[in-house]
Amino acid sequence: MSEYVKIFDTTLRDGEEAPGFALTSPQKLEMAHQLARLGLDVLEAGFPAASEEEFATVQRIAREVRSPIIAALAPPVEAEIDRVWDAIKQAERPRIHTFLTAADVHQQGALGRERAKARAAAMVARARNLTNEVEFSPIDATRSDWAYVSELFGAVIDAGATTVNIPDTCGFAQPDELAAMVTYMFENVSNIARATLSVHCHNDLGLAVANSLAAIKAGVRQVHCCMNGIGERAGNAALEEIVMALSVRRDQHAVDHGINLDQLLPTSIMLQQFTGVTVQPNKAIVGLNAYARDKNGLHGEAMVEDARTYGLHSGRDTLRQRLADLGLLLTQDELNYAFAGYMSLTDYQGEVTDEDLVQIAQNGRRAADGVFDAIGHVYR
Ligand SMILES: [Zn+2]
Repeated sequence: MSEYVKIFDTTLRDGEEAPGFALTSPQKLEMAHQLARLGLDVLEAGFPAASEEEFATVQRIAREVRSPIIAALAPPVEAEIDRVWDAIKQAERPRIHTFLTAADVHQQGALGRERAKARAAAMVARARNLTNEVEFSPIDATRSDWAYVSELFGAVIDAGATTVNIPDTCGFAQPDELAAMVTYMFENVSNIARATLSVHCHNDLGLAVANSLAAIKAGVRQVHCCMNGIGERAGNAALEEIVMALSVRRDQHAVDHGINLDQLLPTSIMLQQFTGVTVQPNKAIVGLNAYARDKNGLHGEAMVEDARTYGLHSGRDTLRQRLADLGLLLTQDELNYAFAGYMSLTDYQGEVTDEDLVQIAQNGRRAADGVFDAIGHVYR
């Protein structure tokens, strides 16, 4: 039986927290439903401590979104653990994710370390009394003392943590170094077999995906990631790049994942629409150039085939007719781009109005000119 790696998506927590990626509450809910269709194992719905609105949004996601584990982040304070539980307890499988701050993880003094360790264990135990799924993250672990991190992991696993996560909070690690840290944890945390080891990689040096893959090779069975790689500064590891690497180079990684590849592009496009932030055209997997149609039709080498545009001639003809009825006559190129926008809109909006059609046609024309992408955001 082959091994399985869990995909933990934090688009709605770590990703959305970053400046420029804010989503409204209804958008988060819609996005959460789409992320569930994508086939995630764990969906981190938010940080309920941030605001009343965030609490309510996480609560709605927990009530409505089925199939993934619904996680929410809780500061290591008793009242906050309890409050996060209130937000997620109606989920099918709720997970409390708690952490220690970087200051605690960087403690040098023995006394401070013992105190932080006891606190982490107490918070995990409290969470574990509420739910069977508890994850623990020592922030900035990769820049801390590995021996101390391994002690923290041992203590929280004894206290009931089911997942222990290594955050590379500042995107500092190198692939072989992170793999060595993972190996160190397997060798030095005596009770590690009772928990899933995970990594959380940031992209400050452009290595978030490479680091995540190196960690999987070293044995972690969960990775944190965000759709389109959104997040603070240079972002988090890009979900679509990790899962495509695992799929295309299965000979190298030999692990299964549960992601529906045909949902990568619709998910990416929905996030671009909602945030108003377009990925660069040459972005791996989901950039316009990675899947766009060339002059002769569909791009042969595109790794993620936009399945929706196959066999959808009838859909395209319908669009052409609706646009013609409005007096909007498009070239084939323009229509192809407009159709991509049309399909992404119909993915999350049942009815496409005449006003939408005018916008879609304009965007199709601009996309054909190379100025705008098909979903309407400026490239340059
Ligand atoms: Zn992060």
